[in-house]
Amino acid sequence: MNPRRIQQTICSVRRIQVNQSPALCMEVDRTPMRVFLGSGGIATEDRRKLYRNLVSEHFSGCSEVLFVPYASHDYSVYTSRMQDFLGEIGLTLVGLHESPDPIEAISHANAIYVGGGNSFLLAKELHERALITPIRDRVLSGPPYLGVSAGANVACPTMMTTNDMPVVHPPSLDSLGIVPFQINPHYHPGKIRFMADGEIVEHYGESRAKRISEFHRVHDTPVLGMWEGSFVSWDGLSGTLIGRATVFCKDEEPVELTHGAKFDESLQT
Ligand code: ASP
Repeated sequence: MNPRRIQQTICSVRRIQVNQSPALCMEVDRTPMRVFLGSGGIATEDRRKLYRNLVSEHFSGCSEVLFVPYASHDYSVYTSRMQDFLGEIGLTLVGLHESPDPIEAISHANAIYVGGGNSFLLAKELHERALITPIRDRVLSGPPYLGVSAGANVACPTMMTTNDMPVVHPPSLDSLGIVPFQINPHYHPGKIRFMADGEIVEHYGESRAKRISEFHRVHDTPVLGMWEGSFVSWDGLSGTLIGRATVFCKDEEPVELTHGAKFDESLQT
């Protein structure tokens, strides 16, 4: 075991002792987790096809998926839109908002899918409906979790690396913690150029890297900047990237990851 891994294991055991970061419990409890996170960005037919294939593989053997639509403003419309989108691969989505007893529904779910939208809306509902612990416990016990965009943000220890505006005030920024790193979805390296009055002009505003560096002024957790259309699978100990991503570790230069890269809980390959 290399020194970094030994240190991680020590930290993990310590976290278990003080009941923190459940994702790291996988160091001693080897039940493999099946977490699959997407950045979103499925604007092209090719990307939609890839998305359906990957989701179908991730949820293979589960015909019914508990869908969490709280990142949206209209739960029924969003659920039926996603049902239309994923119905063709044989999945039935059951909207959590329709359940008379959401905690009970989560405890029996064979698969959980948390959709995208606004991460603050999502986090507020998850906290106020007391769903954070039930979802975390269920995912730690083995059923597959899919989180896209806001659903990927809340899979992290906190939702602090979202791009969203705080349109509502969640009671806490802590999230599910089913992966031990942070995600910034829809990441791009900048510079942005756009058309104005028929000319290409440069947008000189803050880059994502700058915002992530602000996070790292206060926190140590590594951040994965997931490019549009990328996905990450996480089994509790290691992750695999589909597509492209950039790793940000505190006080270090960003590192580009390419398709197929494998990484540990510190986002080290
Ligand atoms: N608004 C994004 C989403 O599609 C989340 C984000 O950009 O942080 O869910």
